[in-house]
Parts: sequence; C-alpha cells; structure tokens
Amino acid sequence: MPHSPPSHVLPSHAETVIICGGIVGCSVAYHLAKEGQEVILLERKQLTSGSTWHAAGLVSQFHGFPCITRLASYGIELMSNLEKETGQATGFKRVGATAVAMNPGRREELRRRKDVAIGQGIEVHTLTMEELSYQWPLLKTDGILEAIHFPNDGQTNPIDTTIALAKGARMAGASIFENTAALRIMAEDGQVVGVETEQGIIKANNVVNCTGIWGQAFAASNRTRLPIQHNQHFYIVTDPVPGLTDPTPVLRVYDEQAYYKEDAGKLMIGFAELNGMAWNPPKGIPHDFEFDELPYPDGHLDAVLEKCIQRVPALENAGIRTFFNGPEGYTPDGRYYLGEDPNINNLFVAAGFNSSGIQNGPGAGMVLSQWILRGHAPRDLVDVDIRRIQPHQSNTEYLAHRGPETLRETYAMHWPYKQRETMRGLRRSPIHEQLKRAGAAFGESAGWERPMWFAPEGVQAEYEYGYNRTSWFPYWEKEHHAVRRDCGLIDLSPFCKLLVEGSDAERLLQKICTNNIAVPHNRVVYTQWLNDRGGIEADVTVVRLHHDRFLVMTSAATGVADHGWLRKHRSKELDVNITDISTSQATFGISGPRARTFLSAYADVDLSNDAFPFSTSQEINLGAIPVRAQRISYTGESGWEIFVDVSFAPYLVRPEKRRDVVSDHASFSTFGSGQHPDDD
Ligand SMILES: Cc1cc2nc3c(=O)[nH]c(=O)nc-3n(C[C@H](O)[C@H](O)[C@H](O)COP(=O)(O)OP(=O)(O)OC[C@H]3O[C@@H](n4cnc5c(N)ncnc54)[C@H](O)[C@@H]3O)c2cc1C
Repeated sequence: MPHSPPSHVLPSHAETVIICGGIVGCSVAYHLAKEGQEVILLERKQLTSGSTWHAAGLVSQFHGFPCITRLASYGIELMSNLEKETGQATGFKRVGATAVAMNPGRREELRRRKDVAIGQGIEVHTLTMEELSYQWPLLKTDGILEAIHFPNDGQTNPIDTTIALAKGARMAGASIFENTAALRIMAEDGQVVGVETEQGIIKANNVVNCTGIWGQAFAASNRTRLPIQHNQHFYIVTDPVPGLTDPTPVLRVYDEQAYYKEDAGKLMIGFAELNGMAWNPPKGIPHDFEFDELPYPDGHLDAVLEKCIQRVPALENAGIRTFFNGPEGYTPDGRYYLGEDPNINNLFVAAGFNSSGIQNGPGAGMVLSQWILRGHAPRDLVDVDIRRIQPHQSNTEYLAHRGPETLRETYAMHWPYKQRETMRGLRRSPIHEQLKRAGAAFGESAGWERPMWFAPEGVQAEYEYGYNRTSWFPYWEKEHHAVRRDCGLIDLSPFCKLLVEGSDAERLLQKICTNNIAVPHNRVVYTQWLNDRGGIEADVTVVRLHHDRFLVMTSAATGVADHGWLRKHRSKELDVNITDISTSQATFGISGPRARTFLSAYADVDLSNDAFPFSTSQEINLGAIPVRAQRISYTGESGWEIFVDVSFAPYLVRPEKRRDVVSDHASFSTFGSGQHPDDD
C-alpha cells in the first residue's frame, strides 16, 4: 500500500463503524455519538479529502421532495449553531439565495417552486427588478422575467463545517481513525458482523457506508449495489471583483446553467452545464486520490463562461484565479441514497449526494442515526430510500450514460412528466413492440418502459412539455372513459411477482400480512404488510396457488423493498424459498364494465359471478393460450388480471388485430383467435 501505515491500534469492537470521513460520515458520527452510541469512524486518507474539501459550499433548504427539504432545513439550523457548540469555526453565513428566470417556462417553474416552498414552510419572496438590482448591483437584468429570493439559505465552508462535526463527534466520545481504509464489510447469514480494515478486524453491530464517489466500487466489492457515477463538476474563482458587496446572496441563473457565490470579495461561479461529463478513469479512482482535482478540459465551458460575462459584465476585467474540476457522485434519479441495505441487515448507507452533500449531509446524518438507533426509518423517507435501487442500475455502462444526464438535468427545465433520454428501452414488456405500433408514448418506471398514453393515428407519440394541460390529455381522457364505460387492456407486466414456496410459506406470510392468507387454494387476498408500529411497509396481493405455494404481487417500483421485507422476516428455521419470477410472467389487466363480455368470447370457462367470484383465481385458456386469470381490478370497475408466460404474451395481445369495439381506445386488443366478441 503506498501510504504510510498508521501508528494507532484499532478497537476490536464498536456498536457502529462508519466508513469514511467526508461531511456525510462525520455527520452520522456526530449524531450517533451524541446519542451515546459507541462509534468508530474510518477514513482511508484524511478527513474531507474526498469530494467534501472542494465543494462550493452553497446550502439551500428547498427541494421538490418535502422530506429532503426538511432535512436540509435542519442542516442549516445545525450549521448556524455548530461553531458555538464545538468552538470550531464553520464559515456558515446566512446570506440568502436568489433564483432568476429567463423564459416563460422557467418563470412558471419559479412561481410554482415558490408556492410549493411556502407549503413546506420555507420563507420565499418574489423580487422586483429594482430589488434584484439592489441585491446584486453587478448583475445585468436584461431578459430576466422573474426573481425569487430565499432569505434563510446560506453558504458555508465545507472543510470547516466537516471538521466541526468531527470535533463534535469526538467531544461526544466517537473515535476517528484517519489513514485507515476499510477493505471489506463482513456479513454472516445476511447480517452485518463487522469491518475488515488494513489494520485488522472491528466487529460491529452496525456498519455505515458513506464512501461518496467510491460508493459504487466499494459496494460492488462487497456484493451489494450502490449505483453512483462520478462526474466532473466545475467552478471558477475570480480575482477580487470591484463592487461586490458582502453579504451578497447566492445567485442561480438556471437558464444559463450557472450559480454565483461571493467569496471574500471574489466570485465563485459554478456550473451544471448541458454538456456535463462523466469521469471514468480506466482503472477506477487512483489509490492515492486525496485532496485531488481533475484536469480542466480546454473549451468545455466556453459557452457558459461567455454567458456569465454578459450577465455580470464586471467579469470581463476580472482575472480568473482558479479553474477547478472535481469529481462528485451522481445517482440515476438525482436523489441521494439513505437507509438499510435490503439484503444485509444493519448495513446502512448514506451516499450519492449529486453535488448537494454539504447542504444535505448534515440532515441525512441526523436521520440515518435515528434509523440506526430505532431500527426503522424515523419518518417518511421513501423518496431517498436505498430500496428504490433497481439491480440493472449498478451496471457501469448504464451509469456512464445516466449519471452525467443527472448532472445536466440539475439546471435544465424540470417539466412535469419530463422523461429521461439516456439508457431508455432497457426493460420492455413482451408486448412492447405491439404497444409501440398502437401509438404508445412511453415513460420509465423502475427501469421499465411503460405506455403513458397512446397517440391516435396522425399524431406523433411525443411529449410536448408544459405547465398547462398536457397536449396528450384528450387521448388520456379517452382511455379513462373506455375503462369506465366499456373495457380496456392495461399492460401490468412490470409488476413484481414473488413466488413464496415451502412447508412454512403460509407461516411466514401469515406473520407479515395483515389480512388472513390461510385461505383455500386459488383465493386472492389483498393485504398490507405493517411494521410493529402499525406503519405500512407494503401493499400487495397474495394468491394461494397450492397448500405450500403463494404468489405475491406488488408494484415494480417497490419490488426490491418488498422482496427485502420478506427476506428479512424469513428466519433460518423456516422452510421457505422466495423466487422473483417477475420477468417470466407477463400481466395484463382487463378492466371495465364490459370486461366479462370481452373475455368470455375467448375463455374456456364460465366467467359469471357464481362460477368465477371476486378475489379468486383460476388456470384457464384464452383461445389457444393457457393463462392464470384473477378476478381483481384496481380501476374501480370489474375486471381480471391475466398472468401468462412471456413466451405466449405477444400472441395473446395483438393490437394489430384490434377493432374499435367499444371505443377507439388505443390499448384495446383481441385475444387468441383474433376474433373479437363483437365480430359476429
Ligand atoms: C465542484 C464541486 C462543487 C460542489 N459544490 C457543492 C455545494 O455548493 N453545495 C453542496 O451541498 N455540495 C456541493 N458539492 C458536493 C459535495 O462536495 C459532496 O456532495 C459531498 O462532499 C459528499 O460528501 P460525502 O461525505 O458523501 O463524500 P466524500 O467527501 O467524498 O467523502 C467520502 C470519504 O470516503 C473515504 N473513503 C472511501 N472509501 C473508503 C474506504 N474503503 N475506507 C475508508 N474511507 C474511505 C474517502 O477518502 C472520502 O474522504 C460540490 C461538489 C463538487 C465536485
């Protein structure tokens, strides 16, 4: 190992070992130690030497997801008191932050942002152009249509703030070991038992992974998943700019992809440029990477810098002191990861902060420490829960494309229904091509392509984004009416399907389902899974296929979490196997008042209420195709869910044979023989 061996002796045990000393790890240590936990923090080099040391230090409160806003607000309050508490200066200044709009779409976005922020209890005001000029005398206001101001946002010194958290942690009893790399997370039977370091093993009840840009590789070496892409993130620092006042609020000009921060009479200008790039060193992050930066690529920022000079003309004569390029970890959906690994009990994660770890790290550390202490999420954190990660997202090629897109999206327009462009089409329903031919405009959910609406003939299946009524509303409306008045087919193939088998399958499910699942064969039970505080963990359907075999159906987006919940409750003594069969079974909902008439034309069984009652399931044939049909529907209308082997699905659902039977709803299909009930 290139770096010198540390002289310390590590303890052999701790309640919690935190891997790494960026702002996030130090925040977890600070909060846990203050609660009296025995904490060890391991840092491979020196505290703050990863992404933290070079952050610009902007700290804002508002985020579209309320749980993120609440934690960021907590973080700002913490920062404002930390110096007093620890005696360590943090550099925190509550200078406020202003955002401006340069086009009508962005103006609408800012207005909505303001309303939502007020709804979340965040103070925000609209500024007149005079007020904006007073706040930012160096700013050219030409073309600015709207400005909103958050008076309680601020800026801080990331290194000093992190060191203050570390100091607070030490004062509360935490031990921090620098130059001590964690080599491996140790787990037995799905339970964390410790960490192997370069200096030996530390046994632990909990391990927390806060490895930042190292997260993806470190997780992979421990056979867990943490899809984080390291991207290149830039800012410049100017020489002193005459006329810059102190305090000056942080300024964000989204439409020019730039933010401005006053820093001791100089300007720090950072970017979320629309040509943002990944950083993928061929052999991974170099072993000796510490307080390092990346090469500054010539010309990459010329276009945005040009706009900055026009926006703040004083820049024309100000020299640029620093061109900075640093790596930062980005996630596929732009939200950070928090929580317990779904496959390894007591392995916790706080990572992937998308260039907002200084603002979000302190709050994330607080809430994760409560999670560790209580054994469950202390509040609704579903939007950042690590269990939303889909297995395919850890793929390096996927991340190399999707990760930089997240960076580019930071300051792009955040239209409702906006679709990601990279790495699309990876997971497709077996009838994807049919849906496409029927005019589907797709949206992505848990990596699956799902039809969001159907364009009629002569209309392109393309989104036209906007804040008003969507361009596709009339087609959507027709689908809605079709299911309400007639009958429609809904492709539910992305549903997660878990086969639970074994002599103790009933015992396990009976323990975690609120509803009774000790029912006769072929009964369908709609049920929730509750935690011991009565909170809802899952909302699923269970069908009893046999005395020792059940099928659990849940949504694609919650499949990983629900699978994890089942696994967590399967004790060693139980004879139960859980298999994810989602991709071997396609699923179609047939719903609407005429669903029975429609299906009866193909079914080889009686579908009447008496012969096929609600909440039951049968193996039947639809034309030539064997399927499992379940009398259940979530549309508010009668209906069936059809489960079919994927190999049969394209034959079963053929929109090219579609007839405009009950309406011209585009997702109608005919079954089996191609004959429609109304064909006679
Ligand atoms: C140019 C730039 C500007 C930014 N500006 C802002 C901003 O204005 N506001 C904001 O909120 N955020 C900003 N950020 C983002 C911010 O820097 C990060 O989100 C934050 O620092 C992440 O903190 P962390 O603790 O997760 O990761 P890091 O600081 O990277 O810490 C991870 C630590 O883990 C250690 N480690 C890794 N593997 C191991 C191992 N096996 N054993 C032991 N230790 C290990 C590393 O050495 C490192 O110290 C910016 C980022 C960049 C690049």
